[in-house]
Amino acid sequence: MKLFLSTNRWKPEYENRFDGVFLPHRLPFGAVKPIEPHARIVTVSVFGDTIGIQKDPDRAAVAVTGELAVAKHNVYDGFAWSWVCPNHPDHWQEILELLHRIPEDKLVLLGDFQFPNERYCFCHRCRADRDRRGLHDLVEWRVQVLREWFQEIRAATRARLALTLPPDPYGLRQRYGVDPAFLQGKVEFLMFPVYSLDYRLTYWMDILVPALIQRFADFRVVIELYLVEPCVHEIAKALFTVAKYDPWGIALYDLAEKHLELARYLAEDQRVQDIVRRVPHPGFRALVQRIQSWHAPA
Ligand SMILES: [Zn+2]
Repeated sequence: MKLFLSTNRWKPEYENRFDGVFLPHRLPFGAVKPIEPHARIVTVSVFGDTIGIQKDPDRAAVAVTGELAVAKHNVYDGFAWSWVCPNHPDHWQEILELLHRIPEDKLVLLGDFQFPNERYCFCHRCRADRDRRGLHDLVEWRVQVLREWFQEIRAATRARLALTLPPDPYGLRQRYGVDPAFLQGKVEFLMFPVYSLDYRLTYWMDILVPALIQRFADFRVVIELYLVEPCVHEIAKALFTVAKYDPWGIALYDLAEKHLELARYLAEDQRVQDIVRRVPHPGFRALVQRIQSWHAPA
């Protein structure tokens, strides 16, 4: 099982602890950060752009009922950031130019490369695009639009590509326009954030994680866990839940070195030792031992 760190600042010691560190280049809010020279994996949000849409609301994706796909104001969808219409030509040009400038030895982890959901997009551009193509089946149209954009991305950069996608085993094509069959062989891995502000309940992860692994068996699957708010024993519980299904990789979203706190907890807690002793799964045991090894007793 690979272990990745998703964070916002580079530290040399991460090289030994992790199999890869994801560092942001373009954030879903629209900010662009300089590429950290040591970063081998850079994240690029494709259609997230809260800042850009504040300046120019015409860029936003539009729901079938007319609301804009914007953070805060769109109560129905509850977006954490604002979504650009996938057919906005200037935004698209900016993204291609940004990708073109990324050194080709990087792996680019694309995020938000999807329609916001099945209610989008009904802006003037997208209505005209459907008329032009003579394609009024919304699912097929969304899939066609994203396929073409993916081909343009592929032409814009020689860097290897991976994708972060909604953790939806059965709705990617139907709801978001992302066609897994088309992506096969074109991406290094698919990453699914399985986030919670706490991991007190994990039964839903016991359903979702194996479903994602089974559904995307033709891909390397990375499950991303959220470390910022949850307390460390909840994180351990979530990690154990994911690890027992043996995904290709696990990524930890961690902005404040919570992973060192996790290491200490795994190394010192007696119940953890008991669990690890009883679990017959060698991958699970190796993962726990690896994290424990980061903890240097005082
Ligand atoms: Zn549109």
